[in-house]
Amino acid sequence: MIYQRSSALFAEAKKVIPGGVNSPVRAFKAVGGDPIFIEKAEGAYIYDEDGNKLIDYINSWGPMILGHAHKPVVDAVIERAKKGTSFGTPTEIETKIAELAVKMVPNIDKIRMVNSGTEACMSAVRLARGFTGKERIIKFAGCYHGHSDSFLIQAGSGAMTFGTPNSPGVTQGTAKDTLLAAYNDLDGVKQIVDQNKDEIACIIVEPVPGNMGCIPPAEGFLEGLRELCNETGILLIFDEVMSGFRLAAGGVQERLGINADIVCFGKVIGGGLPVGAFAARNEIMDYLAPVGPVYQAGTLSGNPLAMAAGLAMLTELSEHPEIFKSIDKKTEYLHEGMKKVLKANGVKHTINRVGSMISVHFSEDAVSDFASSAEAAKNGKFNKFFHGMLENGIYIAPSAFETWFISDALSYEDLDKTIAAVEKVTKDFD
Ligand code: PLP
Repeated sequence: MIYQRSSALFAEAKKVIPGGVNSPVRAFKAVGGDPIFIEKAEGAYIYDEDGNKLIDYINSWGPMILGHAHKPVVDAVIERAKKGTSFGTPTEIETKIAELAVKMVPNIDKIRMVNSGTEACMSAVRLARGFTGKERIIKFAGCYHGHSDSFLIQAGSGAMTFGTPNSPGVTQGTAKDTLLAAYNDLDGVKQIVDQNKDEIACIIVEPVPGNMGCIPPAEGFLEGLRELCNETGILLIFDEVMSGFRLAAGGVQERLGINADIVCFGKVIGGGLPVGAFAARNEIMDYLAPVGPVYQAGTLSGNPLAMAAGLAMLTELSEHPEIFKSIDKKTEYLHEGMKKVLKANGVKHTINRVGSMISVHFSEDAVSDFASSAEAAKNGKFNKFFHGMLENGIYIAPSAFETWFISDALSYEDLDKTIAAVEKVTKDFD
């Protein structure tokens, strides 16, 4: 494939945008090479500036669950734009999307809209701190909750130690209030809680993590977190920015039947426009300004264009619940197909999957937390795989730590092409 124009555009971009991108993972730094500049997208395909057509497994990192330029979403945005793009006042459409979200998601009474998943998680933690009067939080190594200071904490030398900042600019003061645990290690979490008695406001977790590959929760792990929170008065925050409106209409809470105290959303809820949201039962949500004391705000929060896209997207999903079965089935087909060809090619691998979240790791060892995911990525095979797939017209995320984002626009023919590409790319791979 030729990427002449993309490379030229990247060179220009680098002169005026740090690293040429507005979000680091787009830069292909982990896999090498120049990023591809996209001109347009439709359904399961994206078209780059050099005219290459690619089958898309990034789907804007999750939002485009029904494929690109989905007509009801695009039409809703166009119609709404004609009436003005932002007023900074309440609008009826905000109530409509809130009503629908509350209907679709179990265990929530009220929802507040923000502009990104980062804002949703940041605000949820502030709310949890305000509600409980406690300051510390527990997060899991390898779970990503956006780029707010409290979350940019990597695993230190074990679950018991205080976190250290992994980005300059995050103060030690902030870092010490974020306690790190290993995903799927319930005993480790219990120990942290024991050692920080009455200091912890919340445990925030991607209930099905998608930012260290896709990690299935071990049996009893999420249930154990719920129980622990019930016993200690700690609030359980499910970050469903990736899994919400994807693993089921009601996200992981519905799929696995486990309730969280606060739930964060992003990605699908905005239909491809910048939207995040957080939600909880009345008792907690009424702690927010202007009713309660916890301040949280946004000039463009609940923006009418964003709400129009989100409402159209959620309406599609609620009126066609078969979509969730359909994408699960497609992902299972892809899983089975890839497994078969990787086995036939003698490639050591592990494929993790929960519903329509899936990741391929080039190691036979189980990938169940951040440490094992990082270990599996060490051999560098993913980079070779990524570039090989791209050369064959398949666009997967340029990182060994991302799930593939499956859209319902993918046809079985697209999936067969993808499986054939995996077969070709992984011949003589080891
Ligand atoms: N939480 C999770 C689970 C995510 O995957 C992401 C983004 O990928 C975020 C939060 C942050 O969302 P945003 O990039 O919209 O700020």
